[in-house]
Amino acid sequence: MCELRFEHESRTQRVCFGSGAAAAMLTDEVDRLGAARVMVIASPEDAARSEAIISGLPVVHHHHDVVMHVPVEVAERARAAAEEHGVDTLVCIGGGSATGLAKAIALASGLPIVAVPTTYAGSEATAVWGLTEGARKTTGVDSRVLPRVVIYDAELTCTLPVPVSVASGLNAIAHAVDAMWGPSADPIDRVFAQEGIRALRIGLPQVVSDPTGLSGREHTLYGAYLSAVAFASAGSGLHHKICHVLGGTYNLPHAQTHAIVLPYVLAFNAPFAPDAAARIAVALDADEATDGLQRLRARLDAPQALRDFGFDAADIDDAVQIIMEAVPARNPRPVTADQLRRLLSAAHDGAAPETLNNDAKEPR
Ligand code: NAD
Repeated sequence: MCELRFEHESRTQRVCFGSGAAAAMLTDEVDRLGAARVMVIASPEDAARSEAIISGLPVVHHHHDVVMHVPVEVAERARAAAEEHGVDTLVCIGGGSATGLAKAIALASGLPIVAVPTTYAGSEATAVWGLTEGARKTTGVDSRVLPRVVIYDAELTCTLPVPVSVASGLNAIAHAVDAMWGPSADPIDRVFAQEGIRALRIGLPQVVSDPTGLSGREHTLYGAYLSAVAFASAGSGLHHKICHVLGGTYNLPHAQTHAIVLPYVLAFNAPFAPDAAARIAVALDADEATDGLQRLRARLDAPQALRDFGFDAADIDDAVQIIMEAVPARNPRPVTADQLRRLLSAAHDGAAPETLNNDAKEPR
């Protein structure tokens, strides 16, 4: 019987990749878009680091008011600034927080975005936006927020401290892992995801041993892009649903939260998703996916426990309730509140992920 049946939509985006070439690529790409009034979005630190790459742009406004998870009031101020300055193009430089703010403006205005990512968050390759109101983060998909152009320059990531690089790189691996079983995952997403994990597995240990070496930084950036493309097509799986709640409701740091939660979701789902687990294992050059991820995490000295980043065990029950409302219907393994509680408790403590599989007796 024929089992290969799927629908896949590729999104249009120019990707320019070249170490040391950001200034030239950015000038050319902004010119190509016909931009005359550019708003540069970057936190004060990111702006200071990247001053040289914007010297060829027609900048009418520098916007530094960047906050992780895009609180609505921050988005409103940025939208007002874009309107006030008659901006025609947004250039965001920095991590997912800067990209996220550009997306919030584009969502309301339709302005084109040129993204220059300096972390491995991957937001630049997705049409996913996020806004946080009160303690709730809302996300959605809208093609207007997909950056028209992405400029990747691995040199810009060399200043990213090693622990942040590790967390951000594991966040990228989380995109790829979740893309294996996201609600719209298809065979093309899985190819991108597998190659993304492979590149990240090669790049991240090099970043740790040689933080300013371009080989590690390039592999990691390339892997982050592929993983984000896969994730963008497959949609948010269980891992992202959990992390959105932890980030939005409990204000936990994005990359570290993903880095910590990932092995637990992988251990939980893997016995029920043998094809995905096999692909992940191959990409990690390991016999088994969960074990391969744990070995890589050990080499990278990855963050271990949510409690180290401010998550309180007393919040687990409430978090379970919120996450249960968002669990994807097609998750490979059915999810109960009790299992989720165990998963969050283990991630809170940094316990061994394998303990989640004590009742995983009936893989599909
Ligand atoms: P971030 O953008 O907040 O950056 C983390 C820190 O690193 C910041 O202090 C930043 O100034 C600093 N930094 C960035 N680049 C640097 C560099 N090259 N050198 C030194 N310091 C540098 O964090 P992030 O993890 O990149 O992004 C997190 C945000 O992105 C979250 O809000 C998350 O929800 C969002 N996100 C969205 C998507 C999506 O598809 N919409 C995907 C991934 C992440």
